[in-house]
Amino acid sequence: MAETSRRLAGAPVRDAILERLDAAATGDDVPGLAVVLVGDDPASRVYVGAKEKACERVGFRHVTHRLPADVSQADLLALVAEINADPAWDGLLVQMPLPDHLDAAAVQAAVDPRKDVDGFHPENLGLLAAGRPRFVPCTPRGIGVLLEHYGISVAGRRVAIVGRSLIVGKPLAQLLARKGPGGDATVTLCHSATPDLAAVTREADIVVAALGRPAALDRAHVRRGAVVVDVGINRVADASRPRGYRLAGDVAPAATDGWASAWTPVPGGVGPMTIAMLLQNTWEAWCRHSGREATA
Ligand code: NDP
Repeated sequence: MAETSRRLAGAPVRDAILERLDAAATGDDVPGLAVVLVGDDPASRVYVGAKEKACERVGFRHVTHRLPADVSQADLLALVAEINADPAWDGLLVQMPLPDHLDAAAVQAAVDPRKDVDGFHPENLGLLAAGRPRFVPCTPRGIGVLLEHYGISVAGRRVAIVGRSLIVGKPLAQLLARKGPGGDATVTLCHSATPDLAAVTREADIVVAALGRPAALDRAHVRRGAVVVDVGINRVADASRPRGYRLAGDVAPAATDGWASAWTPVPGGVGPMTIAMLLQNTWEAWCRHSGREATA
């Protein structure tokens, strides 16, 4: 089976998308993305840095507002309102997670839904659920685009998604189960209260792991020859690495290369797609705001 095991790399797909956006965004009038980062969570800093770099790569305008970890809810909401009202910014995202004293749901609901390039605003989640998506959250959208790029159709296939968060599992279930191109899958959404998880995921043609637990799924969870999409990004202590840790997915290596028919690596699989979709969503926001057709 090893010879038919395909590695679904995200970086080349991301690069092709960014090149297309770079070619489309010319002149002075280009999309603008505003990011709000609260506190100094190291992973969040890395993600925001990657977003800034990607904007620079395609020539989008960008700004990052860095707020102290003890910022008040009122001050954070005031900044969100200011960016909402500023036509210079087509996209606005508040990096999650927020410190515990802040109400993340209220902050997400305060973002102008027409600038909500993360797709977390209840209006945008509702439009996706209604089958009329405006902004699809970046990670689920990236998974859809990645599978399509590698010619893996979900239509008519059984997909088991493990994890039901609002940023990954739940919107992905809606995306893949919707009627029409890129959808038509038969989706099972699993979570921590799913009894005999392995029996459920073994039934699937495509297993998506989004639990946030290193190597939580192994061969017992994946039918031989199934497709594995590993969303997990976990820091695992590793004294042999200069940083003292390595990144690991939610699926044990034994259940991917040589076992699955196709699988996404961690890092380098779903992660790069998430960034690409953020810029794609920002591009589409700009097109709507400026009355252009989204041709990139
Ligand atoms: P959350 O912690 O918000 O959600 C985890 C989900 O997994 C929950 O629904 C939880 O169930 C479920 N779960 C946890 N343990 C089990 C278990 N033993 N069996 C079955 N289900 C379980 O995580 P996120 O969705 O935010 O992130 C998931 C992973 O994906 C993380 O590693 C994160 O770093 C990564 N990630 C990667 C991105 C990328 O770009 N590649 C983007 C976003 C996230 P319940 O609801 O019952 O608690």
